[in-house]
This record gives sequence, C-alpha cells and structure tokens, in this order.
Amino acid sequence: MMSSSLIDRARSVMPGGVNSPVRSYRAVGGEPVFIKRANGSKIYDVEDREYIDYVCSWGPMILGHNNKKIAESVKKAVDYGLSFGAPTEKEVIMAELITSMVPGIDMIRMVNSGTEAVMSALRLARAFTEKSKIIKFDGCYHGHCDSMLVKAGSGALTLSHPDSLGVTGEFARNTLIADYNDIESVRRLFAENKGEIAAVILEPVAANMGVVPPRDNFLAGLRALCDENGALLIFDEVITGFRLCPGGAQEYFDVRADIVTFGKIIGGGMPVGAYGGRKEIMELVSPLGGVYQAGTLSGNPIAMAAGIAQLTELKENKDIYLRIDRMAESLEKGFKRMAKELELTLTVNRVGSLLCVFFTKEAVTDFKTAKSSNTKLYAKFFKHMLDNGIHMAPAQFEAMFVSDAHTEEDIEKTLEKAEKSLREMKN
Ligand code: PLP
Repeated sequence: MMSSSLIDRARSVMPGGVNSPVRSYRAVGGEPVFIKRANGSKIYDVEDREYIDYVCSWGPMILGHNNKKIAESVKKAVDYGLSFGAPTEKEVIMAELITSMVPGIDMIRMVNSGTEAVMSALRLARAFTEKSKIIKFDGCYHGHCDSMLVKAGSGALTLSHPDSLGVTGEFARNTLIADYNDIESVRRLFAENKGEIAAVILEPVAANMGVVPPRDNFLAGLRALCDENGALLIFDEVITGFRLCPGGAQEYFDVRADIVTFGKIIGGGMPVGAYGGRKEIMELVSPLGGVYQAGTLSGNPIAMAAGIAQLTELKENKDIYLRIDRMAESLEKGFKRMAKELELTLTVNRVGSLLCVFFTKEAVTDFKTAKSSNTKLYAKFFKHMLDNGIHMAPAQFEAMFVSDAHTEEDIEKTLEKAEKSLREMKN
C-alpha cells in the first residue's frame, strides 16, 4: 500500500484524511507520508522508506522509538488485561514517580491527553481562587478545550476572539491574552481585571510557535505577579515536562508553579495526561473536593506500564539529558554555520533538546516575531529534507525533538542533507 492511495481512502472517511490536523501537511503542501513502523531514531513509511525522525511523536519518544524497556513493560501488562475501571498498583507507582521527580507536586491526577489535563487544571484554578478569568499568551497552545482556543484580536489585548468555529464569545470573554516574554502586558491585564484573574497559564518554553525561550526573569516575574494578585501560576509542561530535565521547567528555570500539566511524554507513546500541584489545591479534586473530574480509562494499566518504564529510565539515567542536549546543540551549531556560509537569513532557537529553524533574520522572542518567518521557505525546506530522508515537523510553528536514540552519525547526516537542501533552495 502506498501513501498516495491511502490518503485518498483516508480523505473519504476522515476529515482531511487525518485524526489531528497538522498531519495533513496543509501547512507545507503535498501529500502526507503514512508511517508503518519506527525504531530508534528512524521511522519507516508504508513503502519502507527510512527517515531520521525529529517529530518523535511530538515529544514522547524521548528515548527513541520502540524502546525495548517500554515495549517489554507494555507487553507484560497486556497479558494481565487491558482495563479494569478499578484502582491498580501501577497508578500508585506512576503517581509516586511523578511526585518524586517534579518539585512542588504533592498529588497528581491522571487523565488521557494534554487537552484534558489543561481543561481540568483551569477548572481547579477557578475553583481554588473563586475567580473566573485566565491569562494566556498569544501563540501558546494548550490543547483544544474551548477556553484555550482563543488569542488576541489584533492590537486589542483585552478583546479576545475565538480561534475556532463553535467556540462561543462566552468562553473567549474569560480568556485574556498577553504577549509572551512581555511582563508588562501581563501586569496591565492584572490591573485592568483587579481581583478577577484565577490563573496565568503558559508553556514555560513556548514550543508551539516554533521554540521560544523565556527571557531572563520572565517566569519569575509571572510568579511574583500571580502572588501579588492571588492568582495561580499554571505551567503547561506537556512538552517541557521530563524533557528539559527530570523536574521539568520548574527545576530548569528554578521557578515554582502552583499547578503543572503533563501529557504525552509521561505515557511513553500511550495516550496519557496528568495535572498536579500542592496538596491544598489538589484536595479540591473529586472525590475529596467539589471539583468534578473523572475518566473511564484514566490511569489505564497499559498506559501506566509504558509511562512507568519511561519515567524510571529518565529518573535513573540523568546522562540522557546531557546526551540529547549535546546532539541538539550540534544541530543548532550546524544550522547556524550553514546560514552564515550560505548567507541565509536563518534564526535558530534552542532550549535543551528542543529546537527550531525560522526563516527570518529577526530574533524570535514572541509570536509576532515568530510570524516574521517565511513559512513558504520552511515548507520548501521541509519538502527537501523529507525527500532526503529527514522527517521534520510538517509546519513551521513546531519544535524539532531530539531523542536519546539519535546518534552523532544521524546528526551529521541531517546536517549534510540540510546543507544540500538549503543549497538547492537557493538555486
Ligand atoms: N499543551 C501543550 C503545551 C501541547 O503542546 C499540547 C499538544 O501538543 C497540548 C497541551 C495538548 O495535548 P494533547 O494533544 O495530548 O491533547
């Protein structure tokens, strides 16, 4: 079966032929590649073509694809049954692992996706503070729950409008939009909405507008503003959690959040999410408190088996972080060298093992500057790289993820193909 015939079949039975929009290649053009299998740093399409993979399932494959320990743990769990709808020891082990690795989390609740984690964290923050408004940042993605599908109307920071059809103005009204890395925009919103802000939510490293690091003191500034105004600080660590270091962005930047959300990476490839925080906050969650939140498959034993294997590996082998950061640094240096040699206007942002190449000469520090990237050039670059056996995100405003399965040889080959691609694009 070929990708080209699969996409025709897929389009007749699924919107756009996919179950998540970015996979359709709308942002880069052309037809999506259908994947059959993956191993280590490589994925293979249905025609058995091999690609070095920097999507890594959008983050969870931090140990590489088809990691032996995770696969074995899952296979063992399958023999015991797929789901019980009753408590299991694995859920306890998983909760103990997360609370032991991440600062400030006394209790955790498992859910099934990052979206669910964020949706529940917002409900909890509103209940805890007895306030209703949430500050989010332009260009930060927090999944597809209604209140987060909102961004700034141009030039009107406080007048939010929905990003998606079907999201009503009611939801948009309680979501206020600030600019990433601009503490003054947050201060202004607090001043204009005195006593009404329940929480500030952000990706501590923005990784859904490409990769944008927080400026010095930005996160600490948010912490202080939240404290001054009786609001909670929510770190959405669906991407940064367990990727920057075992304790996530809180440990990496030494700033504490009140609630932290996690997703895909804690499931090692299985559908998982979670939210956690201090005891006094988490005790508000049902059945202890009045914040209702439930899930038939939450804490699913197969997902827990995968997650426990992944987190245990990350906890016990901290060298992993040194290795993946070093690989990503080699990529960053290589891209920067090429840009200079080929006289291209590239900006490369990197935090740890997350990186992104923007086709702009501007420093990318927020969504506005991220949008200065020439997305047509990115699309061309993507296509050339794919044709040369390198699988990158099929959209500009995403991260490249490096895993512990990537070798120096992979990095060299990637840079060689990147140089070839960029030279061809110049002609
Ligand atoms: N939050 C962040 C920072 C994300 O990157 C994502 C997804 O990429 C989500 C939330 C939503 O997670 P999910 O796709 O599992 O619903």
